[in-house]
Amino acid sequence: MEQNGQKGQKGRVENVLIVGSGAAGLTAAIYAARANLEPLVLEGMQPGGQLTITSDVENYPGFPEGIQGPDLMDAMKKQAERFGTRCLSEDVVEVGLDGSPFIVRSDRGEYACKSLIIATGASARFMGLPSEQRFMGKGVSACATCDGFFFKNQEVMIVGGGDTACEEALFLTNFAKRVRIIHRRDELRASKIMQERVMKHPKVEVLWNAVVEEILGEDPKGVTGVRLKNTQTGETFEEDCDGVFVAIGHVPNTSAFQGKIETDEKGYILTRDGTCTNVAGVFAAGDVQDSKYRQAVSAAGTGCMAALDAFHFLEDTGELG
Ligand code: NDP
Repeated sequence: MEQNGQKGQKGRVENVLIVGSGAAGLTAAIYAARANLEPLVLEGMQPGGQLTITSDVENYPGFPEGIQGPDLMDAMKKQAERFGTRCLSEDVVEVGLDGSPFIVRSDRGEYACKSLIIATGASARFMGLPSEQRFMGKGVSACATCDGFFFKNQEVMIVGGGDTACEEALFLTNFAKRVRIIHRRDELRASKIMQERVMKHPKVEVLWNAVVEEILGEDPKGVTGVRLKNTQTGETFEEDCDGVFVAIGHVPNTSAFQGKIETDEKGYILTRDGTCTNVAGVFAAGDVQDSKYRQAVSAAGTGCMAALDAFHFLEDTGELG
């Protein structure tokens, strides 16, 4: 709470509190700070969001040579702080949205705010196999950038057929001697450019029409292989490998808001008229409300919109100042 004394003062009602510090949250902070709203950002468990576990970002406008994800997020944070944003590395556990001010409880303190921007993003989805849990961190990972280094000259499998799976596969070729993508269909979902890079790479192969039935391994070594099932024939077979990277999409980080904010059946926050949620004064931006585009630039765009929406809400309700 000492930190709160300095930054999120006791008894203070924030103009705008932003939950999450990925591209959406920090862009919202830049805009809110430049509107003199002195935003408070609760950064969450993974400050900087998903871009901090990405390597090259090649499609964020303004960087013709690409930029490293963590560098981009550092720059966004500095830009937000330059205009007076306060950032705390705290994780929101619960919110009270019944009346004004809203109450946001974190793992370290409690905050009151006149408007709230939810930008908590999404996290990697897992297959739901007991063996996946058992070998988590012992050969099973959802982040090649974080764990690829541990697989020097080894064999790895990647589950999934989207851009993430392809990107992770290519990244892992820097370490592993052989990289195999396990995809449940006979065609990748990834963009054409990523498909081409994967298909051309001498270290990468695709195992088509296959799903993981079980991750095989032993203690203390960890993963030793996978048992796969051919989705066309039903036949099962085993393949050796040292690591399994899961890249099958994401789930929105909305547990702290369950039952308080309207979501769709997958848990993504529903927004209308820009970034408005079903609670007046609560806005949502980035991947937590976007299961379709999920790009850094679209997250940043909705972050900007959320800050402007929050500003107009405060103006309309006479709560500015
Ligand atoms: P996607 O939802 O695009 O792809 C998920 C993949 O996992 C699909 O191929 C899907 O198969 C497969 N899958 C889903 N569930 C299972 C399961 N239970 N078992 C086996 N396979 C499964 O997610 P991504 O994370 O790849 O991408 C998300 C978004 O981020 C996309 O819009 C993508 O373009 C973008 N992105 C862009 C990048 C870039 O431009 N550099 C890098 C990374 C992501 P199926 O195809 O059969 O549905």
